[in-house]
Amino acid sequence: MQNPFQNAMAQLDKAVKINKTKKLHDLAERLRQPERDIRISIPVQMDNGAIKIFEGYRVQYNNALGPYKGGIRYHPLTEINEVKALAFWMTLKCAVAGIPMGGGKGGITVEPKDLSKGELERLSRGWVRALSDVLSPHKDVPAPDVNTTPEIMAWMADEYAKISGDNTEASFTGKPTDQGGSEGRNTSTAQGGFYGFEAFRKELNLPEKCTVVIQGFGNVGSHAASIWHKAGHKVIAVSDSRGGIYDENGLNIEKLLEHKKKTGALANFPDSKKITNQELLALKCDLLIPSAFENEINKENADKIKAKVILELANGPTSPEADEILFKRGIPVLPDIWANSGGVIVSYFEWDQNLKRGHWTEEEIFKKLKLMIEDSAKQILEKSKESNTSLRMGAFILALERIQEKLK
Ligand code: NAD
Repeated sequence: MQNPFQNAMAQLDKAVKINKTKKLHDLAERLRQPERDIRISIPVQMDNGAIKIFEGYRVQYNNALGPYKGGIRYHPLTEINEVKALAFWMTLKCAVAGIPMGGGKGGITVEPKDLSKGELERLSRGWVRALSDVLSPHKDVPAPDVNTTPEIMAWMADEYAKISGDNTEASFTGKPTDQGGSEGRNTSTAQGGFYGFEAFRKELNLPEKCTVVIQGFGNVGSHAASIWHKAGHKVIAVSDSRGGIYDENGLNIEKLLEHKKKTGALANFPDSKKITNQELLALKCDLLIPSAFENEINKENADKIKAKVILELANGPTSPEADEILFKRGIPVLPDIWANSGGVIVSYFEWDQNLKRGHWTEEEIFKKLKLMIEDSAKQILEKSKESNTSLRMGAFILALERIQEKLK
């Protein structure tokens, strides 16, 4: 697999070539490495009594705009370059969103499905114990990412409170709502993406009712499928790591969610055809939403994409080579550092509510989220038009200028 950190740096190089000012060039030099990159060993007592050591990470990329903020990923392929790339993108994402947070990311190399609930809890608490000195509501506020649930966030927040005595609940976001979590956090990434899509729909000449293809059916992808389906769009294909299903007449997402809950898989959903992930990416549709992992759209398949527009809810799903190909082919890509910022925006709301001991309604949360996404949409479009460049580069330039402004 391509190294995601190299991809991130290639994107940065490109942004600096477009905006040739010395200020941005100097800032880019600073952003070529994280401020802090921590690797830890986490000893965990397994249920059979043996001790197993897991490798964990926290990358604190840049805090010019505020405390480091970013999710924790549990995955067997998670490694330091991936975490660094994700932390870099978080830095830009917070800047694009206009929230007072810097960028960070964490992870553990682990297949969580292989652990019992007790082992998972001990591992999660171990991650916090190893890093508690560098965390706090005013230093670094982690959140969920792939395979980290509200329950895991609650264990982590509890462990941190025990060690530090901090009882604000603002140390971690993405907690369950009865343990200091915010309304709407679970669906916020997909919901924010939907507001972003609506903000750009006319500009990109998309029809009022679109055909939609979604890669990845986890937290982000399955909520996206429900949201687009409920809004009357036709979700014609979805997939997970085991492959996809397709129905040109549109999938009934409520029934599909029940089917997946019952059978544990997407396969054999009535009236649907089985397709591979590569076939799914090449389907003709108005909107393609990658919601799985990095580099899924790459130089091998970018030529085959037939979607009119791509909305990146995953982080880093399009490699830099694929980006060039899509730009030349006139397929707009609504970039990850803006399109999936709903998650971090509502995480920021959670942190703010915790510090003020408040609790906002879901209606308030989504109203504020929509306004923020619409505002950044306008500015990204302006920046990309100004420099006659892609929306991704527009978002990069907007983010870099905002960070630079703060560093003056
Ligand atoms: P998740 O683990 O809940 O879901 C991932 C999904 O992708 C699963 O359905 C998995 O089966 C599927 N998948 C894995 N490999 C695949 C492949 N090759 N083809 C198709 N599907 C595949 O994770 P998530 O939280 O939904 O995150 C998905 C993406 O969204 C990640 O890039 C993550 O960083 C990004 N993201 C998540 C959040 C959040 O709040 N959870 C916020 C912003 C961005």
